[in-house]
Amino acid sequence: MIYNFNSGPAMLPPEVLQQASEAVLHYKAHQSILEISHRSYLYEEILDEAKSLLKELCELNDDFEILYLSGGASNLFAMIPMNFLTKNKSAAFVNTGYWSEKAIAATKYFSKVKIIASSENRHYNYIPSFVTKNIDAEYLHITTNNTIEGTQWKNFEKFNIPLFADMSSDILSRKINYNQFDFIYASTHKNLGTAGSNIVLLKKNLLEKINENVPAIFNFKNHVDAKSIYSTPSVYAVFISLLMLRWMKKQTLKNIFANNNLKAKMLYEAIDANPNFICEVEKEFRSQMNIVFKAKEKLLEEKFMHSAASNEIINIAGHRTAGGFRASIYNAMPMAGVEKLAALIRNFN
Ligand code: PMP
Repeated sequence: MIYNFNSGPAMLPPEVLQQASEAVLHYKAHQSILEISHRSYLYEEILDEAKSLLKELCELNDDFEILYLSGGASNLFAMIPMNFLTKNKSAAFVNTGYWSEKAIAATKYFSKVKIIASSENRHYNYIPSFVTKNIDAEYLHITTNNTIEGTQWKNFEKFNIPLFADMSSDILSRKINYNQFDFIYASTHKNLGTAGSNIVLLKKNLLEKINENVPAIFNFKNHVDAKSIYSTPSVYAVFISLLMLRWMKKQTLKNIFANNNLKAKMLYEAIDANPNFICEVEKEFRSQMNIVFKAKEKLLEEKFMHSAASNEIINIAGHRTAGGFRASIYNAMPMAGVEKLAALIRNFN
């Protein structure tokens, strides 16, 4: 079996791939999943079940609206400020790396930005602490898991303003109280399926705050009213997301969370035990989803990459801006794949 450690689109469970491929040839009512109308009952039942599973697995209360939109998390970087900000308002950000910076850059087109904390001074290898009271902005935006730098927020404080979070790379990977957030978004191509779609969980009271002059396709209220089918959705991506959610429910989140803990622990222990490797992320902020590490000597990097490939371990190169290695171990990565990689790291010389 090939173990794909890509950061996203990421490995999917074999049974999800099997079901997804069968549905291409024959879904229901003599149609392929690729041919069904997004206005048919067939799609309505897919979307309804996916939304209700998200609600159940995130243990969301009734205050939330759930949307499946097309595109990726990057779309939300721009849509959020477009809906909620204007030139004389501001958004607060904690800058924890590459994807926070992208969200900040998009927001600057619409409003002022206040960076209330940043870990840029140490190459984003930790999550900064900051004063949580009296933040003067419309909302605070954070990136709960930093896919490229390999850091992760470990707990979430209470703030005096709404909390917005990009959870693209760690949604449903660990125990979190989702109800303490006001706006959560994530691409579907890591823990929630494949590329082409994203999810938005937003508190209903935010809908009243939406600017009036937002074009329909970018307006969250419009998507709520149109039940996520204002524009023709990526039916297949939403269907695969449903298959992933069903798979997670079957595994149970309890088991998934315990495995994620163990998988990350195994890899960090192996890296720390071999002097040829180094993980520069501060221990208390190490991500359970993206294990970022380097070889101490550049020459060893290529050698390790070869030995990984000959052991059926693929896509462990770090992000193009970071170099080194990154092992992404989302929910679908089996324990056996991590055991294999951990043994390889431990014994490499
Ligand atoms: N946020 C985070 C944390 C990410 O890891 C990524 C990359 N997958 C994005 C945003 C951007 O997502 P997309 O490529 O789907 O726009």
